[in-house]
Parts: sequence; C-alpha cells; structure tokens
Amino acid sequence: MHSQIVIIGSGPAAHTAAIYLARAELKPVLYEGFMANGIAAGGQLTTTTDVENFPGFPDGIMGGELMDRMRAQSVRFGTEVVSETVGTLDLSSRPFKYTLEWSPDEVHTADSVILATGASAKRLGLKGEETFWQRGISACAVCDGAAPIYREKPLVVIGGGDSAAEEAMFLTKYASHVTVLVRKDKLRASAVMARRLLNHPKVTVKFNHVGVEIKTPDKQGNMTEMVVKDVTTGKEETLQANGLFYAIGHEPATTLVRGQVDTDAEGYIITKPGTTYTSVEGVFAAGDVQDKRYRQAITSAGTGCMAALEAEKYLSDMEDVPAEHDPATNGTNGNL
Ligand code: FAD
Ligand code: NDP
Repeated sequence: MHSQIVIIGSGPAAHTAAIYLARAELKPVLYEGFMANGIAAGGQLTTTTDVENFPGFPDGIMGGELMDRMRAQSVRFGTEVVSETVGTLDLSSRPFKYTLEWSPDEVHTADSVILATGASAKRLGLKGEETFWQRGISACAVCDGAAPIYREKPLVVIGGGDSAAEEAMFLTKYASHVTVLVRKDKLRASAVMARRLLNHPKVTVKFNHVGVEIKTPDKQGNMTEMVVKDVTTGKEETLQANGLFYAIGHEPATTLVRGQVDTDAEGYIITKPGTTYTSVEGVFAAGDVQDKRYRQAITSAGTGCMAALEAEKYLSDMEDVPAEHDPATNGTNGNL
C-alpha cells in the first residue's frame, strides 16, 4: 500500500493530526498499534480515570472516553485507522518504507510520516508497585495530584530532577506534607528549583534514600505506608504515605527511528524549535515523543495540529517539485 501520509501512534497528537489531515482530504492512514510499547490504542490516557484539565469538559471526562471521542472524530472525517503496530520504518530513501508487526514481509510506502508514538513513565518495580499502581502510585502529579485520596495526606515523590521538584511543589497545594526521596546526596534539579524545594515548609527532602516497598491497603485498597531505605546506612523505616509519585524520567517510544532521526541524550526526537520538523525532511514528530517538558494531552494535541499543517505544506510543495528531484539527496537532511 502507498499513502501520502502515515501517522504512527494513537494518542491526542496522532488523532489531532489525523483530524486536520482528513479534513484537508489527504486520506491519512493512522496506525494505532496493538499494545505497542505496552500501551493500549488510545495512548497514555487510557491508563487513567478522570481527566479534569482538557478544555471543553467542565465536569471532567474519563481518559478512555476522551480518546474514543478523538478516534471517532478522526474516523468521521475519513482517517483510515489500522489496529496494528508499525514494526519497522526505513527513512533512508523515498518514498519511506515500513512494515507491520503482524505481516513483516509486506512492505508499505509513504511520502511523509508523522511520529506520535508517545512516551511512558519510568517505573521502579518496587515491591507492591503492581498492587498499588493507580491506587496511590502515579507518575503524573499534575494529572492526578488533586484527587481526593491525596488531600491533606502525607505523600512521597521519588526523583531529584526538575520534574520531581515541580511535582513536589505542585503536590504541596493538596498534601499535608511531601517527602522527596533522592537516591544521591544532591539534587539534579536546576538551582532555582532546588532552592524552592529545599525551602518549602511542607517539603522534606531525604537525600541518599530509596523506596523499598509500598504496603498496607486501606478499605478502598489504596496504599497508606511505604518502606524507605537510607543507602548510606542500610537502615529502613516505614513512612505513612497515601501517595507515591514517580518523577524519575520518561522513556520516549523511539525504537522505530533510532539512528535515523536526531534524538537527544534521553532519546527524545529533536524538532526544529517552534515546529514539528525532524532532521529528516518529510518526517514530523508530535506529542510526548518530542516533549520532555510539558507532557500533557493538550500540548500533544497542539503539536499534532502543527505536524498536520506542516505535513500538508510539505506534500503540497512536493507536488510542485519535478519528479526527478529526490529530496533525500538535496542536502537538507540533518541540518535543523
Ligand atoms: P500517547 O498518549 O503516549 O500515545 C502514543 C500511542 O502510540 C500509544 O498508544 C502507543 O501504543 C502507540 N504506539 C507506540 N509505538 C507504536 C507503533 N510502533 N505503532 C503503532 N502505535 C504505536 N495529560 C493531561 O493533559 N491531563 C491528564 O489528566 C493526564 N493524566 C494522565 C494520567 C496518566 C496515568 C498518564 C500516564 C498520563 C496522563 N497525562 C495527562 C499525560 C497524557 O496522557 C500524555 O501527555 C498524552 O497522552 C501524550 O499523547 P501522545 O499523543 O504523545 O501519545
Ligand atoms: P531527569 O533525568 O532530569 O531527573 C531524573 C531524576 O530521577 C534524577 O534525580 C535521577 O537521579 C532520578 N532517578 C532516575 N532513576 C532513578 C531510580 N532508578 N531511582 C531513584 N531515582 C532515580 O528527569 P526530569 O524528568 O526531572 O527532567 C527531564 C528534563 O525536563 C530535564 O532536562 C529537566 O530540566 C526538564 N524539566 C524542566 C522543568 C522546568 O524547567 N520547570 C520541569 C520538568 C522537567 P540521579 O540524579 O541520581 O541520576
């Protein structure tokens, strides 16, 4: 199969791009994946309950329902949604080539590609983590921190970077107290964030401390305690904790394009500032796969829109270029 434009992913970035491209009658094909990267079609929001900060839903909306609605809107305007995972992508020549996980011998082609494969929060695999995931444990304080189970309760954040500092400060609005566990004897966060964190009256930073176990469910099955360890002495203690927030970084889903588009040290796709252009002409990146800072549904949707408009322009410019001109060899690649 050949398509003008293929979208890989199924979160807010992918579906927003699809809505714009379908309305522009470019017949986008969107691969939503089948448990790709361990996440169901619909993306990260399918793993949460209430989404309260997506505009247009004053009473909030369940994450799964929001994604079902976005998918329906994509389909309504003519997007072809394929429930398969893209297994390989070859960006070395035009048209781009790709295969699907379930039919690896069949090669498909596309003139342009939007990468919207998202990211996933790193976890620690602590004892009790599976039991209490979303029963107190979360990897997004901004998303979940205002939930009633955390109000006026002692909470724990793990991590020492800017995210940990930002999430801990955010949680102080709701929590009775926030303890931050930092595995080393120093914070990685920027000086200004570190100073704010260390000076906050509702925050205790425990340096050289790691999490060991989450335990003791309340009547609703939510966590109430956590065992932590001082790595310098090996001594363990049990903290009262009704919430645990991981802020130890995210992993962008970039296996498909590793070594083919420019990425930063943590694997995030580098886009030309203020755009979704990657280092390969005709390949655009939107959503969490290129955003390590905001990582929100609305920002993903915003960059999905940008990717669609930029891809549309690329495709229309392509039509004006003589057939023998191959953009792969015109020296524009890699020079953001
Ligand atoms: P993602 O949602 O990350 O989806 C990417 C999709 O691409 C996945 O389904 C994946 O399976 C698929 N995929 C990956 N590789 C392939 C492949 N090779 N082929 C086909 N498909 C592939 N944000 C908010 O704004 N408000 C909230 O309340 C909120 N709550 C959250 C709660 C939780 C528990 C989590 C984890 C996140 C939350 N977020 C929230 C953040 C928000 O979910 C993300 O910012 C957003 O979903 C990112 O969208 P995305 O389009 O980049 O892709
Ligand atoms: P970082 O990689 O900067 O920090 C991750 C933190 O988690 C580090 O303190 C690291 O410890 C710790 N960590 C990693 N793995 C483990 C583990 N297994 N156990 C315990 N601790 C662990 O990620 P962030 O998400 O904080 O930030 C990502 C990027 O986004 C950065 O560039 C940051 O500056 C930026 N950002 C900026 C913000 C702002 O300016 N307001 C807000 C949020 C993010 P160690 O230091 O020991 O490696």
